[in-house]
Amino acid sequence: MIIQHVCQFLESFAPLRLAEQWDNVGLIAGNRQGDVKNVMTCLTITAETADEAIAKAADLIVSHHPLPFVPIKKLTTDNVPSELLWKLANAGVSVYSPHTAFDSAATGINQTIADMIGANGPKPLAALIDDAAGLGAGRYGKLSSPMSVLDFAEVLKKEFGLSALRCVANASGQVSKVAVACGSGGSFLDKAVRVGCDAMVTGEATFHTCLDAKAKGVALFLLGHYTSERFAIEKLADEIKKEFPRLNVWASADESDPISTC
Ligand SMILES: [Zn+2]
Repeated sequence: MIIQHVCQFLESFAPLRLAEQWDNVGLIAGNRQGDVKNVMTCLTITAETADEAIAKAADLIVSHHPLPFVPIKKLTTDNVPSELLWKLANAGVSVYSPHTAFDSAATGINQTIADMIGANGPKPLAALIDDAAGLGAGRYGKLSSPMSVLDFAEVLKKEFGLSALRCVANASGQVSKVAVACGSGGSFLDKAVRVGCDAMVTGEATFHTCLDAKAKGVALFLLGHYTSERFAIEKLADEIKKEFPRLNVWASADESDPISTC
């Protein structure tokens, strides 16, 4: 089994044509012809996840977020992204990132969230032009019946294992048509408004996007960037395992949300 076999599978599962223009996706570091036995999935390559991959002899990391994300000119230990890449390269660990291709895939993160929260018949918020499969970024759909803001917040808390949830919402309001954009999805607010959504679920948004949501009367629910995407990392490992039963595939055990409450 070689790295390229896993790349081919990932490109069919999360086609790279679905990735945003600004993104950096696919095989980012590594040798396509290199042997692969051990694969680790994670949300982000950090000191913790890189160390785990090396300690457990991973040949390939499938990291949702790309490393590097912005171009780097030097591969030295002078700054964090290039130091991590240097370390992984020295240990022979390849890096693949599906990022926004996985966000937007037919069974990707946004589709999964839409299914989890009961948004029926979800459609992309930003459909790709002339895409035969009708795919695109974000999702929106109608709940089976309108729900109070507070009841909908309870659904989110239960599905995502949260004890509290940040939101911009009128507590006496109703939710019936919901937009979904995992991660930093604030830029999808206008698209959500355009298709008539009265609520949007995302990971994080800026203060000004929150003000905008309030002004436009859209209930905005902020799961946290990590929470809105990390659950899919197990799913990613499961999909790779299902396709390649002989590979040893695991989701990072050492990864955690860098943000906590104190
Ligand atoms: Zn993200």
